[in-house]
Amino acid sequence: MKAAQKPQGLSYAEIRSSILENIPQEIGITRIEFEGPRIAIYTNRPEMLMERSYIVADIASSIKKRVVIRSDPSVRVSEEEAERVIKEIIPKEAGLVHIYFDPTLGEVILEVEKPGIAIGKGGSHLLEIVKRTRWSPRVVRSPPIPSLTIKQIRGFLYSKSRERERFLREVGEAIFRPMFQPAGDVRVTFLGGVRQVGRSAILVRTRESSILLDCGINPATLNPIEAYPRLDVEEFDLRSLDAVVITHAHLDHCGFLPYLFKYGYDGPIYCSKPTASLMVLLQSDYLDVMSKEGRPTPYSPEDIRKVILHTIPLSYGEVTDIAPDVRLTLHNAGHILGSSIVHLHIGRGLHNIVYTGDFKFGYTQLLQPAATQFPRVETLIMESTYGAPEDVAPPRVETEAEFVKIANHVLKKGKVLIPVPAVGRAQEIMMVINKYMEMGELTEVPVYIEGMISEATGIHTAYPNYLSNEIKDQILREGRNPFESDYFTVVKQPDMRDEIAEGGPCIILATAGMMEGGPVIEYFKRLAPWEENALIFVSYQVAGTLGRRIQSGLKSVQTMNSEGKLEVINVEMQVYTVEGFSGHSDRRQLLSYVKRIRPTPRRVLIVHGEESKCESMVRALSRFRGLEAYAPRLLETSRLA
Ligand SMILES: [Zn+2]
Repeated sequence: MKAAQKPQGLSYAEIRSSILENIPQEIGITRIEFEGPRIAIYTNRPEMLMERSYIVADIASSIKKRVVIRSDPSVRVSEEEAERVIKEIIPKEAGLVHIYFDPTLGEVILEVEKPGIAIGKGGSHLLEIVKRTRWSPRVVRSPPIPSLTIKQIRGFLYSKSRERERFLREVGEAIFRPMFQPAGDVRVTFLGGVRQVGRSAILVRTRESSILLDCGINPATLNPIEAYPRLDVEEFDLRSLDAVVITHAHLDHCGFLPYLFKYGYDGPIYCSKPTASLMVLLQSDYLDVMSKEGRPTPYSPEDIRKVILHTIPLSYGEVTDIAPDVRLTLHNAGHILGSSIVHLHIGRGLHNIVYTGDFKFGYTQLLQPAATQFPRVETLIMESTYGAPEDVAPPRVETEAEFVKIANHVLKKGKVLIPVPAVGRAQEIMMVINKYMEMGELTEVPVYIEGMISEATGIHTAYPNYLSNEIKDQILREGRNPFESDYFTVVKQPDMRDEIAEGGPCIILATAGMMEGGPVIEYFKRLAPWEENALIFVSYQVAGTLGRRIQSGLKSVQTMNSEGKLEVINVEMQVYTVEGFSGHSDRRQLLSYVKRIRPTPRRVLIVHGEESKCESMVRALSRFRGLEAYAPRLLETSRLA
């Protein structure tokens, strides 16, 4: 009989003794603890470990874990004193905007305008802060457009610091629990988002652990059995779930996540840093919209707060243990800010899964194309939103040229109204407008955006490292932020809408993207009766939505006015559709992704597409030599290894 395999890493006792052996006595270690997937070393002299950073690097590589240094709470100066010292050390030119303390971790977050100056040469200012306060400073760029969401998340985590500490310790203990079986029996069960778009949810199980990839809603239906993932089946057991991984903030991937907490889930959620913020914005908006329409909501704001408390944000490329036999790494997916391709390494080299989530393998203004290089891949799980042979988008430059041409024509006399979803397409179109106005190719007119778009844009400016190289360089090197361009005006008061409608030519970006509600309706009412104005659709309009009906030629629209009376609007404005701004890969990009991904997978499972598109992709991929392609059905389980 084979001896039981040791866990992928070392046990807590082994980790502890390895650390104690490697650290000189004078550093004064007080505790060694799990902090989620990391190991935290508490010391009375954190500055000594900072100065001799090779010690920590050596430990991390010998125990194969991420190691963080924390100061023992007993040696930290008071928050007031630390604030005073920090203000003394950080130069005025760094533009210190805010100081946040995180007593759980002993971290002090310094929100500054110029991180380079705040850090100082070779980190000299940070070292001085540690020496004098024993708090660990973390410098973050202050978003030039302030985001209320980010502020609220920070404030909430601060107020829950004890709970957060306990949660992180429990997560760590669970991740590094001993494993009594060798890793094996890798299975995936599709709980939603197969042969359809909406309610993405994929369960990955091994003998030891259980991971849920995405937990979305299907916005196209209200019937619960079709609107939500099938968590009612026996394969899914909330109590034995180790982790949830969220690919991106769109509701069809994370809209049902808070529901897990309503029913007692107490484990971690992993996602990228921007997703952690955007997700909360979109989940909260979803609840707002549902309750305004008087519809029952599947969870409450309290459950969204639990999501915040249980989220462990990761950077792209950060390899993280999430279960005794599973390691997670997120990579750029190019779809929206923070969107991730999930790489799961199972067992020691037993099996590797790459799940694309929604991805764009092509050029956009806002983001880099999806990552193609992985250490190993046997199974690729890929979306196929645009998987049919006719789903071939025009080249991006042609799309932009067409948009500019139409806008220039309308702006001679009229106003342009563009319905956009708040996250993703709105910022992409903002960047297109800014670029062509700066180049002098698009008529310079005021561009109005409303609250929700402005809030999402604020979150974009907080994470410049996740944006396209071009925009990142503009922000970080040239010090000019294209989102802050003078062309953009944020509409703060609803009464501004009348002024805008009565004023001269302009461009208005407003939600909702398919005109299901939101400020776009207010503008539409005011602009629709005049033929010099135009509506330009830049995103997909689902059948049945007002957007789709207008796109197909609807000439009169009934809406409710502010007094609750029915009102008929005649659509005299011109209606255009510009194809090609999608954040999804088109057919050619999907096929070329499978060709380009390295190493080459053995198996491709096609998900997230209408039935006929999934089947068409399977037929096309079956012609690839040595590749097995398949479109799983709802509730089907496939054994991968
Ligand atoms: Zn998406």
